[in-house]
Amino acid sequence: MSDQDHRSFAPPLRMLMGPGPSDVHPRVLAAMARPTIGHLDPEFVSLMDEVKRLLQYAMRTDNDLTFPISAPGSAGMEACLVNLIEPGDEVVVCRNGVFGGRMHSIVERAGGRPVAVDDAWGDPVDVDKVEAALKAHGDAKILAFVHAETSTGALSDAARLAELARAHDCLTVVDAVTSLGGVPLEVDAWGLDAVYSGSQKCLSCAPGLSPVSFSQRAVDRIRARATPVQSWFLDLSLVMGYWGGGAKRAYHHTAPVNAIYGLHEALLMIHEEGLERSWARHRLHHEALVAGLEGLGLRLRGDAAHRLPQLNVVELPAGLDDGAARRQLLDDYGLEVGGGLGDLAGKVWRIGLMGTACSRRNVLGCLAALDDVLRGAAPAAGKGLGVAAALAAYG
Ligand SMILES: *Cc1c(COP(=O)(O)O)cnc(C)c1O
Repeated sequence: MSDQDHRSFAPPLRMLMGPGPSDVHPRVLAAMARPTIGHLDPEFVSLMDEVKRLLQYAMRTDNDLTFPISAPGSAGMEACLVNLIEPGDEVVVCRNGVFGGRMHSIVERAGGRPVAVDDAWGDPVDVDKVEAALKAHGDAKILAFVHAETSTGALSDAARLAELARAHDCLTVVDAVTSLGGVPLEVDAWGLDAVYSGSQKCLSCAPGLSPVSFSQRAVDRIRARATPVQSWFLDLSLVMGYWGGGAKRAYHHTAPVNAIYGLHEALLMIHEEGLERSWARHRLHHEALVAGLEGLGLRLRGDAAHRLPQLNVVELPAGLDDGAARRQLLDDYGLEVGGGLGDLAGKVWRIGLMGTACSRRNVLGCLAALDDVLRGAAPAAGKGLGVAAALAAYG
């Protein structure tokens, strides 16, 4: 191998409008490039406290146990489940897309007994079916569901599901990976117990961290465990000594220092904008994008009442070569949109409007690119009608 085979990696500039990661703001990237300090340095310890306060703001909670797990969203999912489940526990798991299915397999691996409540992909979780399952399984300890299903674009009623769980003496495990920052998420007001999210969706931070928050009821359940958590790394009784230790933090693992700088900056940006304004921005650009997609003659999937603003699932015109068209978007426009998962593969695209990527510039740029790439395939493509419809929606 010659010396020439190795050089620095220079990533192309992209517009990230898929299911995540979303565009990372230059302020966040700049923060991540600051000098690394020790993870027990007093300055870093105060930054951790600040990250916790900003996360509490973003998640609307006073929960003391609120911090980022040093791993992606799936690790947050696993942390919530393995800490709350003891072998033999019944767990009602709602499956209306890919991520509910992932929760179901973690429950099995953690020794729990999953009770699946299945809904069609694209539908929100059916509250009546959940109530029936909770009634039929009086011993169930946990209700687990996905708030915003990124695989299908469906938003479920987390407030109502949490109310049902409480009425049946169950704790809730809630996937808020895609909801946090993009749509209202009220951890305390809705009484959610174990909530996990991800850094790379509507927080617009680099991938690799999973903010989590645990209610007092969840902490009490963990403290009362009869069996040890089967994962050492994710055992919160050990992690608490690091993230919850106040002045006397003990070594647990080396925190990803520069990743935390990035998360801090991303949370700061949400705080500066204001959470409600961030939710409103996601709605505004979603409505313009939908108008534009319809202007191109495309159809969105799912009932408008349950559609996520930050993840738009659009049906592909018949006969379109999915892979080739997405490749053209990437090559000619630097635009990444997501393909369909599971049964939806080759049938839909998932167009994300997450965090920094949720802007007028991206909406209009995406519609212009689709207008070109779908020429001849979508009914109205090639005529500029998508961009016109979006501009009209902006008013
Ligand atoms: C992206 C995502 C995850 C997984 O997060 P990773 O960071 O990819 O591990 C889990 N749930 C939902 C709803 C997601 O969108």
